[in-house]
Amino acid sequence: MSSTNAHCVTLSPVLRESILDASRSVCPREMCGLLISSREADDNLFTQWTPMKNMARDAESFRLDPRTYRDIERASWAKDWQIVGLVHSHPLGIAMPSKRDLACVREIWGESSSWTYLICGLKESAGSEIRAWKLSGGRFREQTVCQTQKIEEISPGYSPND
Ligand SMILES: [Zn+2]
Repeated sequence: MSSTNAHCVTLSPVLRESILDASRSVCPREMCGLLISSREADDNLFTQWTPMKNMARDAESFRLDPRTYRDIERASWAKDWQIVGLVHSHPLGIAMPSKRDLACVREIWGESSSWTYLICGLKESAGSEIRAWKLSGGRFREQTVCQTQKIEEISPGYSPND
């Protein structure tokens, strides 16, 4: 598959609906999960993710369970897949990274990361939206989110419990 525009992130419709459903289902708490991709897949094409339990105690943040993260990482590697990004929601906010989000990713990655950060904003007046971000030069830069109807058929099934 040819590589798309580096700043264009493509989400399959099923992925998009699944992220919106998961975000709404835990509202008003934040939802979190991981984006997973096959190694041969286009870097900017996303069809698979896995929701994770949010370990944070307060409603306005999220924390991944390190053990579950390792399990997903191991299961992905076994299938020649990899973790390529993070998904989380802002139940009362828009789909822009918060100061805390930036501080967290800079703590992990420093200035830049190849991961894609999808944020689902559920703020009512703004409508539900998913926006994509990448850490580059110490700040989040927005990626254009595109959708396609065609990619379900090439998407292998993934379950962290396999
Ligand atoms: Zn956030």
